[in-house]
Amino acid sequence: MSECIFCGIVAGTIPADIVYEDDDVLAFTDINPAAPVHVLIIPRKHIATVNDATADEKDILGALLLSAKTIAANHGLTESGYRVVTNVMEGAGQTVFHIHLHLIGGRVLTWPPG
Ligand code: AMP
Ligand code: ZN
Repeated sequence: MSECIFCGIVAGTIPADIVYEDDDVLAFTDINPAAPVHVLIIPRKHIATVNDATADEKDILGALLLSAKTIAANHGLTESGYRVVTNVMEGAGQTVFHIHLHLIGGRVLTWPPG
């Protein structure tokens, strides 16, 4: 998926402020942050949306959520709280079609989102 911006970040051809990485996962600061902490957590493997995920990818999908816990702890958010959310398809606000979790924190978060 050479035209995918997040695959470009994985490949190192597009710059990003990387805050976490392991064999399956890369995480970097959102370029347009919605809160003091706004990190995007992506699989190295291109999966366009949650709709496209398969049971074969359950380890990768689990790694995303577990890395969110680690990144939140690294930012001191474990006790104060944070939000992990993924937008699926345009109707939910998805603009980049490579699965990503938004990890948002560092301010009071209201619910429900818009
Ligand atoms: P979504 O709208 O849920 O698909 O989220 C996509 C997110 O990617 C948005 O919050 C954008 O600000 C963010 N974004 C887009 N391009 C970049 C980039 N090059 N580096 C970091 N974040 C980006
Ligand atoms: Zn991609």
